Amino acid sequence: MGNKLTFFLVVFCIGFYGAVAYINKPHPFDKHIKWLVENSEFEYNGETYPSIAYYSSAELQVIAYGREKIEKADSQALPKIKALYNHRENTLMFTKEMDITEFKTGYIVVHELVHFLQNTNNITENTECIQSLEEPAYKLQAEWQRQHNHPGPYPNFLFVRLLSLSCSR
Ligand SMILES: [Zn+2]
Repeated sequence: MGNKLTFFLVVFCIGFYGAVAYINKPHPFDKHIKWLVENSEFEYNGETYPSIAYYSSAELQVIAYGREKIEKADSQALPKIKALYNHRENTLMFTKEMDITEFKTGYIVVHELVHFLQNTNNITENTECIQSLEEPAYKLQAEWQRQHNHPGPYPNFLFVRLLSLSCSR
């Protein structure tokens, strides 16, 4: 009887310790959110992080552009989508091969988290043109890359300008 109780307690304690360790584990978004708050006007007050979903690269292009647009366009014409943020569902979508904890992919995660903060700071709902949300995201992404000496591709600001210009059309 005593042995069984000890056994139960040991199992329970290990389980409990495991659960606490899991809960206290830093989320891969924590450091990026901290950096973004320190380097922008955005506030973060503990809003629920986006849920994360993974798709194949082809699936992500369809979600971003729609099947029709992809079929019509010359495949070179549409920029490849690596990640997407859905502000209605607060979901971040990445390609399956992406490990969001790696330094290598940090600039993509930072960019998408700008869209999350635009949403929680009520900027998204107050914009008339969704493309105008890209410029601040690319600017902060570039600043993060500069500060972290990140080799990954820098945003093309001509492309970013064109996105913003498409708003006034
Ligand atoms: Zn974006």
